[in-house]
Amino acid sequence: VEWTPEAGWHDARIEPYAPLSIDPASAVLHYAQETFEGMKAYRHADGSVWSFRPEENAKRMARSSHRLALPVLDPADFVQAVDALVEVDQRWVPDTTAPGAGEKSLYLRPFMFASEVFLGVRPAQHVTFMVIASPAGAYFKGGVKPVSLWLTEEYTRAGRGGMGAAKTGGNYASSLVAQQEAIAQGCDQVVFLDAQEGRYVEELGGMNLYFVHRDGRIVTPATGTILEGITRASIIELAREMGHVVEERRFSIDEWREGVASGEITEIFACGTAAVVTPVGALKWDGGEVPCAAEAGEVTTAVRQALVDVQFGRAEDTFGWMHRIV
Ligand code: PMP
Repeated sequence: VEWTPEAGWHDARIEPYAPLSIDPASAVLHYAQETFEGMKAYRHADGSVWSFRPEENAKRMARSSHRLALPVLDPADFVQAVDALVEVDQRWVPDTTAPGAGEKSLYLRPFMFASEVFLGVRPAQHVTFMVIASPAGAYFKGGVKPVSLWLTEEYTRAGRGGMGAAKTGGNYASSLVAQQEAIAQGCDQVVFLDAQEGRYVEELGGMNLYFVHRDGRIVTPATGTILEGITRASIIELAREMGHVVEERRFSIDEWREGVASGEITEIFACGTAAVVTPVGALKWDGGEVPCAAEAGEVTTAVRQALVDVQFGRAEDTFGWMHRIV
């Protein structure tokens, strides 16, 4: 779908997957004016195909696009575009009822970019919105084993007034060097702290964090500079339904270290569309390490199960989260 100020959104079409021909002076290549989303389509046992809370992705893209001075695509049009592609590509939504099929799904990537051809810093007057799809298996090669985290003290992800809450490529570009640092230190993922004080836990490169306490309370960093994960919001609701008190607040790195050392924190997990829910193992930084559970804890396992059961149609969708496509 294309956008210009005169015509609005127009020229919606579905084409076979193929390379794009892009003018070297397309604004996105120089000024990174773009936003994207990540979501999945799931096949249920009766063959039907569903997506998970697509209006939330649509609304988040609208917020991201506003921040990036891109035009807003109406959430209903966003959902319709994703549905239209899945309908055409439905044979690629994996069958999860086959023995050993696991939690496979069709990953969907809607994205919007400044396609106007000009050099100069101003919002583009020609914008393109596209959706691509690809079958997805497990996010981490080791399955649902704990991920180890590296605390970066050199790099931050987002400052006040910045783009931290937007899903835009620039945020990921700025996280790559920190993620490289994590890998070089033998860890799976990087943990970012706030840019202001360098004390408060924000999120991982591509996931939100939860800290389960001995008394069942669950703490997750408050929104503002983090990406407002749709899995994050869903887990808050699920955990509350399961009887947990969930606190969204600032959570310092000292609280993490001390909580694990004293046994006050019993489980830590991370969540996101791609990885669903993943237990967190050790946290390492320059000069130290706190260990954490070698396997997924009880709460982590229960939350994960409750969520995937709704997504794959094995449990009743009491929140009305699933959207039928086929
Ligand atoms: N934080 C970041 C930085 C992410 O890239 C993602 C993945 N989109 C998340 C959190 C989790 O968000 P969601 O649950 O919507 O996938």
